[in-house]
Amino acid sequence: MARAARACLHPDIPKGGACPLRPGSASRIDVTIISVPLGPRSYEVCIAPASATDIAQKIGTALGKTTGVAVLVDSRVGQLSPRVQPLVEALAARLPRVRRMDLPAGESSKTLAAIERTCDWLADNGYDRGAALVGIGGGATSDHVGFAAAIYLRGIAYATCPTTLLAMVDASVGGKTGVDIAAGKNLVGAFHQPRAVLADPGFLDSLPSRETAAGMSEVVKAGLIADAALLDTLEAQAGAAMPAAVLAKIIEAAVRVKVEVIVADERENGRRAILNFGHTVGHAIEAASGFQLLHGEAVSLGMIAALALGVARGVTEPGLLARTTALLACLGLPVDVKHRLAADVLDRMEVDKKRVSDAVRFVLVPRPGEAIIQGIAFGELKQQLIAAL
Ligand code: NAD
Repeated sequence: MARAARACLHPDIPKGGACPLRPGSASRIDVTIISVPLGPRSYEVCIAPASATDIAQKIGTALGKTTGVAVLVDSRVGQLSPRVQPLVEALAARLPRVRRMDLPAGESSKTLAAIERTCDWLADNGYDRGAALVGIGGGATSDHVGFAAAIYLRGIAYATCPTTLLAMVDASVGGKTGVDIAAGKNLVGAFHQPRAVLADPGFLDSLPSRETAAGMSEVVKAGLIADAALLDTLEAQAGAAMPAAVLAKIIEAAVRVKVEVIVADERENGRRAILNFGHTVGHAIEAASGFQLLHGEAVSLGMIAALALGVARGVTEPGLLARTTALLACLGLPVDVKHRLAADVLDRMEVDKKRVSDAVRFVLVPRPGEAIIQGIAFGELKQQLIAAL
C-alpha cells in the first residue's frame, strides 16, 4: 500500500493539510446547461449562479402545468443560507399554491417515518396528482424529496436545488432516490427522475469546509472512472483558493460524467455500477464508523482500497495509487485506510447491495478515466484487500 500520501502537490500546502476549497469570488461564471436525454424522462441540469427569480422561472418552465408546489427545505440550509427564503418567495410569485415545509437536517430526513410525515403533510395540504415537489438541500434532501415524489399518489413531479457539492455533482442527478432502514443505508427507494436540477454554486457559501471536501471525493471519483483531464485540473487547483469559475467547471465535468453513465444505463443493469467505485469498501468503513465519517470521506478511503486492490491484482497502474492518495490528502480527505480496515469492517460488505451470491461486483480503475467491473469472490476479496494495504 501507499503508506503515506505523497507530498501535497501544491507547494503552499503542508503534507496532509486541508486545501482551502472556498470558491474565490471575482471570476465570471457561465451558465451551463447539461441535457440528460432519457426519452420521456429527459431533463436538464443547470449550473449557474442565478437569482431567485431565474431559478424559479427555470423550475416553473420545467414543471409545466401544475396544481401546486410543495417546497421541501433542509432545515439547516433554511437557517444558514440567505438564498432559501427569496427562492421560496420567487417560486410563490410564479407558481400556484406554493407552501414550504422544513425537513430534518441531513441524513435524519432519510427515514420511512420522515417520508410518511411528508406524505401526510402533502395530503393535509391538498396536494393532488398534478402537484410537484421542489427540494432545497443536500443529497439527503434530494433522496427524500425524490422518493416522496416517487410514491405520493403513485408518483408526482419534482425538481431539486442541490446545496452541497456532493448533491450538485452526484446525488441530485440520475433519479436514484431512497431512504435508510435499520439493515442499511439506501435500502428502500425508487428510480424517479427529476424534471430539473438547478445547481447554484452560490449555495456552497454556507457549506462547512468538511462537507465541501467530502463532495470533492465524488469529483475525484468521476475523474478516476471517466475523465482523466478532470483529475489533472483537480491536481492543478488543489491547494489554492479555487476561483468560482473553476469550481463551476469542475462541477460541470463531474456532472457530465454522471450523466454519460446514467444515460447509458439508467437503472444500473451494467455500466452505471462504475459509479460505485470506492463505495463497496467505503460503505463498510462508513457503517463501521457509526456514520461519524461523512460519505465522501468514506469513499475517499474506499477508493484508496480499491486502487490498492487493483494494483495487487495487476489491473491498476501502480503510480495511480500514490497519485490519488496525494490528491485526496491534499483535498483534506482521510487516506489512512489501513488503520480502518479490520476483517470485521470488511464483513459489512456482506450487506452491500452490489453483492451477487458469494461474489462482489467490484469496480477497478486500470488507469485515469477508465473503469472496469470484476466479479470477485467475497473471501478472496477480503484476503486480497487486507494483503494489499
Ligand atoms: P446532506 O444532504 O446530509 O448534507 C450534509 C449536511 O450539510 C447536512 O447537515 C445539511 O443540513 C447541511 N447542508 C446542506 N447544504 C448546506 C448549505 N448550503 N449550507 C450549510 N449546510 C448545508 O449530505 P450530502 O453529502 O449532500 O448527501 C449525502 C446523501 O446523499 C447521503 O444520504 C447519500 O446516500 C446520498 N447520495 C445519493 C446519491 C444518489 O444518486 N441518489 C448519490 C450520492 C449520495
